[in-house]
Amino acid sequence: MARKKLSAKAWAEKPDTGFVQTVVKIPDDVEEFSPKKEGTYRIDIIPYVVPDKSAAGPNPNAAPGELHYERTFFIHRDIGVDEQRYVCPKRTAGKPCPICEHRKEIMEDPNGDEDLAKALAPKQRQLWNVFDHEEPGKGVKVWEVSYHLFGKQLKREVMHADEDDGYEYFADPEEGMTLRVGMEEQKIGKNSFLEAATIGFKPRTKALPKKVLDGAHPLDNLIIIYPYDKLKTIFLHEEGVDAEGDEDERPVKRDEPKKTKAVTADDKGIGKGDDVAWKGQEWTVLKITGDGESLTLVNNDDEDLIKKGVLVEDVELPGNGEEDAGPTKEGGDSEPTAGQSSTKKEENNGGSTASKDDSVEDDDWDADW
Ligand SMILES: [Zn+2]
Repeated sequence: MARKKLSAKAWAEKPDTGFVQTVVKIPDDVEEFSPKKEGTYRIDIIPYVVPDKSAAGPNPNAAPGELHYERTFFIHRDIGVDEQRYVCPKRTAGKPCPICEHRKEIMEDPNGDEDLAKALAPKQRQLWNVFDHEEPGKGVKVWEVSYHLFGKQLKREVMHADEDDGYEYFADPEEGMTLRVGMEEQKIGKNSFLEAATIGFKPRTKALPKKVLDGAHPLDNLIIIYPYDKLKTIFLHEEGVDAEGDEDERPVKRDEPKKTKAVTADDKGIGKGDDVAWKGQEWTVLKITGDGESLTLVNNDDEDLIKKGVLVEDVELPGNGEEDAGPTKEGGDSEPTAGQSSTKKEENNGGSTASKDDSVEDDDWDADW
């Protein structure tokens, strides 16, 4: 019988950065700017001519044909069994979005799950053309970054500058400035990420060379928007419609055969929105799989900490008088939880200096780990 050869081609072609291109299509010959460690980065933001038509809809901050320096767009996180990021067609391009529709239903339902609605909120991001002084030979790179980790800080600097500082012209091809960006590591829960903690402006000594200017990418055209139906299919997988998808996600406990009847949420009287104890911490049930056997939990002390595929039999409703049943050692199948509870979430909404210049809704703190 003919056998299909085992191929590693698909795996080999996946970018090593773990960056699967579901959000932005970076051409093969273009480098991404992606600071990996703390330090000072000297970059020029290279302006580009906003294209006439873009599948990602009009640039919200500039008209077609104008010289501009960024493209704002929105994504949904942790979508589908692969927990991928996808561009929100609604906030980005004014097209229908199955995820936003689902979120609206939850918000209109008096018993709707607020935490899930929050998790599904579109997050603001930006694309920038970057000339990286560290690697001048690499041409104009593309930087895809959360608004809250760079753009917001840049905006603040421009807004609070004196007129004669000229910061507002930072992206001007002739009289622009080199940005000195101090990236610092921030930590929330188990996630760490780099944030532009300081931005300095240095007037360039000469105009940008034509070669660099010509290397700017039409940022609007790089954004990937999935067709409605495709996005809906991907999204619903996670919602338990496809039981097999859920099955794959669930951790299998070594010490018991898969086929034994598992404890379901119904058996324990656990419902969506209930508080439960798991691994010695308090959690809220965000989701229950179709078969009722596993849960998605959000940590009550750190709402960015979400655990999927937690078996119902491993959690307890508080006040069941079985305190010793939960946090035992034998679980051992997921990340250590020690230390997480010590990291408080008091710095949400963009850190200590978050201010009124940012619109409220959907402006949740949006780390880019
Ligand atoms: Zn959306």
